[in-house]
Amino acid sequence: MNYRAQLVGVFGDPVDENPTGVMEEAAFAAMGLHFRYLTLLVRPQDLTAAMQAVRALNLRGINLTIPHKVAAVACMDTLSEAAAIIGAVNVVVNKDGRLLGDNTDGKGFLSSLADAGIPVADKTLTVLGAGGASRAICVECALAGAKTVRVANRNQERGSALVSLLNQKTEAHAEYLPWNGVLTIPADTDILVNATSVGLAPHTDQRPDIDYQGITGAMAACDVVFNDPNTLFLRAAADRGARTVNGLGMLAQQGALNFAMWTQEEAPLQVMEEVLRREFRLPG
Ligand code: NDP
Repeated sequence: MNYRAQLVGVFGDPVDENPTGVMEEAAFAAMGLHFRYLTLLVRPQDLTAAMQAVRALNLRGINLTIPHKVAAVACMDTLSEAAAIIGAVNVVVNKDGRLLGDNTDGKGFLSSLADAGIPVADKTLTVLGAGGASRAICVECALAGAKTVRVANRNQERGSALVSLLNQKTEAHAEYLPWNGVLTIPADTDILVNATSVGLAPHTDQRPDIDYQGITGAMAACDVVFNDPNTLFLRAAADRGARTVNGLGMLAQQGALNFAMWTQEEAPLQVMEEVLRREFRLPG
């Protein structure tokens, strides 16, 4: 008999409303795995000690969310190629006391596009925002063969830094779009992504300040915001005839990748998606 569960979890601040634990624990149960997922409040000043605790407590791994993804890079023994380029870690695997940092946010986004039948290769993306989620999405889409990646961000320094990174480290052509007031969506956009936090609960009555008349039926519109997943941005894009992809697919897909890294088993993706739909009271 083995009474010791394998431990994984998430460090964040705030973290109380993060639904990942419900999704991962349902997946462990479905696969008959003796794992537990802990949702842990870790203050920024305690991150280094918390990462040391991953080793001390023999955790199998850990997720990192706001505000730890960038700071955690310095605590890793090794980084995946994606995490090194993105400069942020959202998942850690503890291999015999050595911490490997990876970033599955962008790969999760790519998988959610693939599920929706939306190809990225040779496409032109317009991405709103240049924070952690945007960096992961832009880098992975560029590595997956996107032709052009345009980044619109209010803060020019952050937007330009991401554009320089994409031009230096990937084959894609990247451009910065200044975002002061209403943003005009370039007409050649194939995939429009809201990678800002605008629309995130409790501010579900807000949407990015863009000219929605510029969205056409030839575009796909994607949102990273998953709480609530039926965002005003996506509703407005659907009204304009665009295909839409909400943030739940990205959340489930990156959770499935993390599950596989920790357990060495393929994740039961359907179970994870069902749990999220239930949590957000969406029809099955
Ligand atoms: P960051 O804080 O790193 O970045 C926030 C971005 O949003 C910045 O570019 C910021 O612009 C922009 N922004 C904020 N408010 C506004 C506004 N009013 N108008 C225009 N731009 C604005 O956050 P993250 O990148 O980590 O997270 C962003 C969102 O992605 C969150 O809602 C998060 O929940 C979601 N997410 C979803 C995941 C999923 O699996 N679906 C995974 C990871 C994140 P500026 O630089 O000008 O301040």
